[in-house]
Amino acid sequence: MELFSGITYQSTRGGQIGIPASQAILQGLAKDGGLFMPNRIPTLDISLEQLGAMSYQETAYEVMKLFFTDYTEEELRSCIGKAYDEKFDTEEIAPLAKVGKDYFLELFHGSTIAFKDMALSILPYLLTMAAEKNQVEQEIVILTATSGDTGKAAMAGFADVPGTRIIVFYPEGGVSRFQELQMRTQKGKNTAVVAIHGNFDDAQTGVKRLFRDEEFQAEMAKKGFRFSSANSINIGRLVPQIVYYVYAYTRLLASGELTAGEEINVVVPTGNFGNILAAYFAKQMGLPIKKLICASNDNKVLYDFFATGSYDRNREFILTSSPSMDILISSNLERLIYVSTGCDAEKTGKLMMELNEKGCYTITPEMKEKLKDFWGGFADQEENRGEIKRVFDNYGYLMDTHTGVASAVYRKYVEASDDPTKSVIASTASPYKFSKSVMEAIGGNIEGKEDFQLIDEMSARSGISIPQAVEEIRHGKIRHSRKCDVDGMKAEVRDILE
Ligand SMILES: *Cc1c(COP(=O)(O)O)cnc(C)c1O
Repeated sequence: MELFSGITYQSTRGGQIGIPASQAILQGLAKDGGLFMPNRIPTLDISLEQLGAMSYQETAYEVMKLFFTDYTEEELRSCIGKAYDEKFDTEEIAPLAKVGKDYFLELFHGSTIAFKDMALSILPYLLTMAAEKNQVEQEIVILTATSGDTGKAAMAGFADVPGTRIIVFYPEGGVSRFQELQMRTQKGKNTAVVAIHGNFDDAQTGVKRLFRDEEFQAEMAKKGFRFSSANSINIGRLVPQIVYYVYAYTRLLASGELTAGEEINVVVPTGNFGNILAAYFAKQMGLPIKKLICASNDNKVLYDFFATGSYDRNREFILTSSPSMDILISSNLERLIYVSTGCDAEKTGKLMMELNEKGCYTITPEMKEKLKDFWGGFADQEENRGEIKRVFDNYGYLMDTHTGVASAVYRKYVEASDDPTKSVIASTASPYKFSKSVMEAIGGNIEGKEDFQLIDEMSARSGISIPQAVEEIRHGKIRHSRKCDVDGMKAEVRDILE
C-alpha cells in the first residue's frame, strides 16, 4: 500500500477530508460551506539563519513546499517566479521600514499598491497549474466580492491569464473613489466588474450563495465554466501570506536587529482575518512570535470577540476611512474557531450555523483559552488620524489609514501591557491609495480637491515618489459600468459569461 505522506486539506465543517492542495485551491470554498484547513501545520525544515540568507522567492519556496505538497518543485518555483517579479517596485518584494523602535512591514509594493497583491500575484498561477494537474478542461471563472482592494488585486493577477475569467462585485459607495477607479479602469478581455446595491457583507454573502448553488453550477458547467474563488478564504491565498512573516523575521535576524530565538509581536490591521491568520500559522510553524495583535476599526466585532468570547454581527455597519476593514463577518475566523475546538468539525459547523441564523455565537471557556496568543484592540477614526499625524510629524513616515489603525492599536497595547517585545506592524496599503483621508490626517486642506490633486500635494509634502500604479489610473479609461441588486447577481454572471 502506498501512503501519501503530504499535507491534505479538510473542511472546517467536516464534509470533505483528504483533499490534496491543488484540489483545495481549485475549489476555494469546501462543498459544505466550510473552509479548507491543512490536516496539520508543518514546521519549517531549515533554520531561520539559513532563511535569512535567502531571497523572497527562495523563502516563498521553503514555506509553500511544506503546504502545497502535491506540486512538484519545478511547478512551485515556476509559479513563484512568475508572481514575484518586476510587478513589484522593489527587489525585496516586502521591505521593512524601521520607524522609532518599531518595524513596518510594507506589503504594498505590488501592482495595486495594497497587500492583497502579495497573495493574488501568485494565486492565478497556482490555480491554472492546479487545473492542469487535475485535468480540468473548463474555463475557470473567479467570482470575488471585494471591500475595495481584493477586487483590483485579483483582476490585476488574473487579467489575460489563459483559461481564466474573473468577475468582481463591490459595494457601490462602499469603496474609495480611487479604489473604484482602479477597478473600473481594469484592462483584460477576461475581466468584469459589477457594483452591488448593498454593503460588502451583502456582496460576500451573495457570492457565497452562488458557490453553494449546485443547480447554477451544473448549468454553467455545461457551458464550459467552472467557478472558483479568489477571496481570502482560498487556501492558495492564505499560504503565500505566511511567507512575508517568515521573511520579515529572518531579515531582522540577519541584520542583527534580533538575536537568535528572540520573540516579536505582530500587529495586523484586520478585516476578513486572513492576514493575521497567516501570522498565526507562521507561529505554529516555529517562527518566534509572541503576541498576535488584531487591530480593528470602528467595526470592532473582532475586538469584542477576543474580549468576551462572543461573536456578534448584529450591529450597525460603519463606513470608515479604512474601508478594507469595514467587515462584520470575518470569514477566515472560522479557521481559528476550528483550531480552538481541537479541529472538531461538528462543533465548528454548529457555531457557523448559529452565525448564519442568529448572527452571533459564543465559544466555550476552553476554546477561549486556546486564543490567548491573540490580543484584540480597535481604533476609531479620530485616533487613526491622530496616529497618522503623530508618526508623520515625529518620524516623517507616512502611512495609510489601515496601517494607521494598526499603529494606534499597537500603542494601546503597549500602554496596557508594558510589553517591550519588538514589534512588526503589517503595513497594508500605500498612503497614495487613500490620499484624501491621509492628507486630512496630516493637516492638509482637502476641501473641494480631487484625488489626483491631493496625490500631487502628498508627494510634495512627503517626498515619496508617486507609484506607477497611481499614474496608470490617472490616465486610465473607464471600461466597466455594470450595476445590480444582490438578488440579481446570478443573472449578471450569466449575462457576463454568455
Ligand atoms: C484586505 C485589507 C486588510 C484586511 O486584511 P484581512 O486579511 O482581510 O484581515 C487590511 N488593510 C488593507 C489595505 C487591505 O486591503
